[in-house]
Amino acid sequence: MRPGKIVCIGWNYSSHIKELESELPKVPTVFLKPSSCIIGDGDTIVIPDGVTNVQHEVELALVFGKRAKNVSEAEALSYVSHLAVFNDVSARDMQKEARASGNSWDLSKGMDTFGPMSEPVPIGDTDVKNLDLSLTVNGELRQSGNTRDMIFPIPFLISYISRYMALEEGDILITGTPEGVSEIRPGDVVCAKVEGIGLVTNPVAGQSKRRSSDSLRSSRFQPYLLARAERILFRISQSAV
Ligand code: MG
Repeated sequence: MRPGKIVCIGWNYSSHIKELESELPKVPTVFLKPSSCIIGDGDTIVIPDGVTNVQHEVELALVFGKRAKNVSEAEALSYVSHLAVFNDVSARDMQKEARASGNSWDLSKGMDTFGPMSEPVPIGDTDVKNLDLSLTVNGELRQSGNTRDMIFPIPFLISYISRYMALEEGDILITGTPEGVSEIRPGDVVCAKVEGIGLVTNPVAGQSKRRSSDSLRSSRFQPYLLARAERILFRISQSAV
């Protein structure tokens, strides 16, 4: 099976808005990442040639177990079957240029391998309003936050989005990142973590380096990524039944 859509929330922690010099949003900023960007734990984040200032964003991800359309805030969380850690990898220079010229963020956020995701775990009775998130680069702490500091709480986000766009079984909602985003470069190792949920660790490589020194591996690269994404989504579909 193919993964569902990835619905993303921008600007959902005031600390991150401050560091990007943006204004507090009145309504959630919603955008999409293509499911083809998903990779799993241990897979490589590949920066395409000419892409500058690629940054990490640790986020709590929700996976939907059944279709949510026009749902209330009170019932919103009952549509979520799993939680995971997601790294919303972003080509920041390209994103800023797009914002300045009124273009969409799609390419800057949707590049292949720009969606590292941990194995989803059942939501159970997890309190999504109080989860610590953190991210390290080469073992050094870069991001640290808690979901209690979200501007738009999760039940509101689900209810709001579902008014306009159904969240279907297998769809993923990533809920924004706290402060501390920074550049990642080839050779770095990035580890995103949500306390009690899991972690996803990924090395970073440049496209050219892979092509010249790694030609055999890169030819196997795409099928491998697809297999990882399919395995994650297969697990989601199995436990969502
Ligand atoms: Mg993000």
